[in-house]
Amino acid sequence: MERLGRMATFASIIAIALLGAVVAARAFALPVPGAARLLPGERVLRVKLPDARALALPPIAGIDNPDWPLVMIDPGHGGYDYGARAPGYDEKDLVLGLALALRDRLIADGGVRVAMTRADDSFVPLRDRAEAARQLGASAFVSIHADSAGSDSEAAGEVAGATIYTLSDKASSAAAQRFAARENAASQVNGQALSGQSDTVSAILIDLSQRRTQERSRQIAALIEREGQGVLTFHPQPQRSATLEVLRAPDVPSVLFESGYITNPAEAAHLASDDGKAAFARVLARAIRFHFAGESVAGPGGP
Ligand SMILES: [Zn+2]
Repeated sequence: MERLGRMATFASIIAIALLGAVVAARAFALPVPGAARLLPGERVLRVKLPDARALALPPIAGIDNPDWPLVMIDPGHGGYDYGARAPGYDEKDLVLGLALALRDRLIADGGVRVAMTRADDSFVPLRDRAEAARQLGASAFVSIHADSAGSDSEAAGEVAGATIYTLSDKASSAAAQRFAARENAASQVNGQALSGQSDTVSAILIDLSQRRTQERSRQIAALIEREGQGVLTFHPQPQRSATLEVLRAPDVPSVLFESGYITNPAEAAHLASDDGKAAFARVLARAIRFHFAGESVAGPGGP
């Protein structure tokens, strides 16, 4: 009887072990939920998703007085996200150079505090960039990017000029919409939204409570265009609007400065040069300073 009991126990252990092996094998064989099947030539990019709740706020530089306005400078892209690319240039590096020049210019001129969403080659989700500006109580948010005209034709290499984007629920042109689609893609990895909220982007903002912020954002854009005359090369229609995820802080006036075309070799070289960075920083710093001083530029049809 005792022997029979031991045999039964032994059989149970074997059965449980076999069952476990089958379950484990099935688990490993099962596809990961949500994972798309790869097509030939595609590869998997695995990125550790940052925890938005543990948002590490960047340090604040400049004058040590919380009463002074805080400018949040946001160099686009970073880390595995190169942004637009052309021979010799990656957008993430080009815009970091411009952003650091603007930071140094603002600090040297005094009277403001400055923070950067990234000051090195690190990846920061779009959502965290605007959120950091809000949590630090920024008075203005300036995102810096460069555009690409593609490499399909020789003419693409001649497209040049800066554009200043503000947020709207409708793109001001098809080109603005394409630009926003490319920039918003930085919040997605393998089609998975990092923010988990990118489908709500088109529905955000632009209600009555945010109109004041939008008005102030457009004023910054207008001041940049005014101060940049004769110094920077602008696109023929330099002020545009689009549904840009990085500009969605509802209470921080925000602009995205698209500094030029990385696909234009002469423009890319200029933006990467000391002269180009200095000219950019001078114009942006003056526009921001005039904005804080309450100066405004009359819009089309205004006084
Ligand atoms: Zn960009």
